[in-house]
Amino acid sequence: MGKALIIGCGGVASVAIHKCCQNSEAFEEICIASRTKSKCDALKAKLDGGKTKISTAQVDANKVEELVALIEKFRPDVVLNLALPYQDLTIMDACLATKTHYVDTANYEPEDTAKFEYKWQWAYRERYEKAGITALLGSGFDPGVTGVFSAYALKHHFDEINYIDILDCNAGDHGYPFATNFNPEINIREVSAKGSYWEDGKWVETEPMEIKRVYDFPEIGPKDMYLLHHEELESLGINIPGIRRIRFFMTFGQSYLTHLKCLENVGMTSIEPIEFEGKKIVPLQFLKAVLPDPASLGPRTKGKTNIGCIFRGKKAGKDKTYYLYNVCDHQECYREVGSQAISYTTGVPAMIGAMLVMNGTWKGPGVKNIEEFDPDPFMEALNRWGLPWKESFSPELVD
Ligand code: NDP
Repeated sequence: MGKALIIGCGGVASVAIHKCCQNSEAFEEICIASRTKSKCDALKAKLDGGKTKISTAQVDANKVEELVALIEKFRPDVVLNLALPYQDLTIMDACLATKTHYVDTANYEPEDTAKFEYKWQWAYRERYEKAGITALLGSGFDPGVTGVFSAYALKHHFDEINYIDILDCNAGDHGYPFATNFNPEINIREVSAKGSYWEDGKWVETEPMEIKRVYDFPEIGPKDMYLLHHEELESLGINIPGIRRIRFFMTFGQSYLTHLKCLENVGMTSIEPIEFEGKKIVPLQFLKAVLPDPASLGPRTKGKTNIGCIFRGKKAGKDKTYYLYNVCDHQECYREVGSQAISYTTGVPAMIGAMLVMNGTWKGPGVKNIEEFDPDPFMEALNRWGLPWKESFSPELVD
């Protein structure tokens, strides 16, 4: 039994909070704190009446002193950061100051440079070790479950893993010509950046969307997918012994890509501030304001997601291939927690990571990526809390 402070009250947080309330055995009490308190109060009103006690608070997570005051008042066992990647370091600072465990789902990214890397958060390792607290980095789906899948494959199926291909397929249709499934600003920054993959100990860079493959996804069928840079490549390349190459592919429909290209060509995806009617605005932030709110896609989205990893390596001297994946149905997620599958597949692992750190199953101390912990309790919890996984020993491979 424990207390969690959840920061942020958007799409992912809403799912994680529903799941904490379903899991009242672990989450005795939660505090939902975000920039806009009315969203926290609305969610509390929806979920009140269960066994988990809920309170709410207003906080600007860019301000360490506000976070420290909130943590000191609520005294949580763990802080679950589900705000934006820009707030990771201030929240980590506040956890350090109050000696409180920290969990997030996305690595730090400076607001003015579209470049996410672990170096800023890994720089806290020694200070977290000295303070005797744990920071669990990347407890969403990708990163998150993809790292747990990798640790599980290594523990149970391989002596060494040489190749990992992470495949993220969203075959959901929301009926809008263009919308993003999670925070549009973060999503567009990710997909309009150059691609890269990790091979023989170094990064190989590609142009955005340069490498395309078609993959026949189990329970979905063939889809176009494109190689992207993704944050878990950085930690898995180091933490999984024997790795020669690791790549990440995500599916995109032609209409999404055409819209994105057009928005890019007219300058709407830029993060450079421009002067407009005497005020500085960031085009991408303005675009976010006119696009559908990802939270509103829930009732409209039909279809499934399939996210997983294909591993190739050696067991007892022989070549071996293994595919671990999860299939999630947008409408089933909506019926259960009022959100589509993208928020669901991130919010469930966020709750599980917070639970394992809070109840001491996963102990640091230090700053750890998810694949550094024993994957078995997480894999069991995925089956229990709504993201059952499937495996195949003879999957189609990606060339
Ligand atoms: P949303 O934009 O829906 O929610 C973000 C929330 O953070 C909002 O409630 C927002 O408040 C709040 N927030 C923003 N700035 C501050 C601040 N300064 N102080 C306090 N609260 C703040 O995003 P998502 O729920 O889609 O994404 C949440 C996180 O999950 C992101 O970091 C994203 O990168 C990550 N993610 C990870 C995935 C994975 O698989 N690992 C997949 C998808 C997302 P307000 O309501 O006022 O705007």
